[in-house]
Amino acid sequence: MTEHTPSPETLDAYFAPAVAATLEGLRAGTGGPFGATLVGPDGEIVVAVGNTVIKDTDISGHAEMVAVREACRKLNTLDLSGHVMYATCEPCPMCVGVMMWAGITTCYYASTHVDAGENGFSDVHLRRYLDGSDTSTLDMVHLESGREDCASIWTEFRALTS
Ligand SMILES: [Zn+2]
Repeated sequence: MTEHTPSPETLDAYFAPAVAATLEGLRAGTGGPFGATLVGPDGEIVVAVGNTVIKDTDISGHAEMVAVREACRKLNTLDLSGHVMYATCEPCPMCVGVMMWAGITTCYYASTHVDAGENGFSDVHLRRYLDGSDTSTLDMVHLESGREDCASIWTEFRALTS
């Protein structure tokens, strides 16, 4: 990471709303014990959210994912470069992915994926799949031929965007 760790006061200011949103969701029964605050390039808080998996019946409603979704809608952009994520817990690989898709290059987190695992929220199956140590959890099957309909999408895409 190229950024210097913010001061304790700044960290307090950014983590507090994430923790508050998380506890609110926990107490209301709308989400799991995870929260995140996304901060803009000028240090302003863009969104502070908790996990919404239960509320939205959405397996992808992790706090960092929700923060990226809400920030993109709020700012009407797909590019959150220059923004910084403050997550109460180490992001899972899905959320690492969404941060990277959005152009976020810095994320500070407090609890670790080990802490999450000890509380029933292990993402180790994802980590093992991605590092290649256990790919038995998902069959990814490449159909090498016979899908001209799928291939034709590229032809149409190039025609529409050239
Ligand atoms: Zn996640």
